[in-house]
Amino acid sequence: MNLDAIKNVVVVGAGTMGNGIAHTFAQHGYTTTMVDVKQEYLDRAIQTIGGNLDRQVKKGALSAEDKSSTLAHLHTSTSIIEACKTADFVIEAATENQQLKSMLFHTMDENCPPDVIIATNTSSISITEIAAFTKRPGNIIGMHFFNPVPMMKLCEIICGIATTEETFAITEELAQKIGKTTVCVQDYPGFISNRILMPMINEAIYCVMENIASVEDIDTVMKLGMNHPMGPLTLADFIGLDTCLAIMEVLHEGLGDSKYRPCPLLRKMVAAGYLGKKAGRGFYKY
Ligand code: NAD
Repeated sequence: MNLDAIKNVVVVGAGTMGNGIAHTFAQHGYTTTMVDVKQEYLDRAIQTIGGNLDRQVKKGALSAEDKSSTLAHLHTSTSIIEACKTADFVIEAATENQQLKSMLFHTMDENCPPDVIIATNTSSISITEIAAFTKRPGNIIGMHFFNPVPMMKLCEIICGIATTEETFAITEELAQKIGKTTVCVQDYPGFISNRILMPMINEAIYCVMENIASVEDIDTVMKLGMNHPMGPLTLADFIGLDTCLAIMEVLHEGLGDSKYRPCPLLRKMVAAGYLGKKAGRGFYKY
């Protein structure tokens, strides 16, 4: 497989990340097929992409012709088997669940042409473990995009223990071709982004639990003192406290160091259903 041979991209999972990834590939001229379990999820994804393209046009970031050609490059399918048969490159962005991903990687491996690279957008599952579900571990790689994908420049590229140099080189160039700045990461829990971000958020939650300062003041310190665009507690609310807890558990278990233990207040808030913005209540009320 070489980069120029990649024309048909398949994105499995058309949720928050999947529709952003599909949008970005289609905007850069790739024939892009989104796969999900129900046609209504795919229709919703197309609608979301349409709305996001309108916003780009309004801002002057995209011409009306580019919007039409992006939409013309987008296709949908509820059959992963059919979509994989003609894929040149696949990105899996389905729900974060190890069992689901093992089933999906098995199916994709069985149905994609043999030299196709299958990437995963997982935030926390080991690339090495995912690769072990397939007979092509050398062609499995992590492509960790950030939300919203069309806007966020970064793509972490994660090599599992068996990922080949060729797979890495093609994936890196492909990510750069769709406008992303890439970083190369070895397969350890949390990669770079969550390894650094989540302990910072967790520490901010300890500061709340220990009554060191108010929620607002903790956020203000990080915004005005460290020039972060938003405070860690606001960010935690946006990400979802359940997601933050799940990632801390992965770091704690995977790295085996007590410095990654999730803050008891984080656990308590998740148990109470105070999951952040999506639940109307987290560190702030929405
Ligand atoms: P989401 O819940 O918005 O979307 C997941 C989609 O996968 C849903 O549309 C669901 O119907 C679909 N799906 C479930 N089972 C499927 C199957 N068998 N076949 C095809 N599609 C299936 O989730 P998301 O936030 O888009 O996350 C997707 C992946 O991206 C996860 O692995 C997550 O860890 C990762 N990720 C998320 C973010 C983020 O900020 N949300 C950032 C980076 C990476």
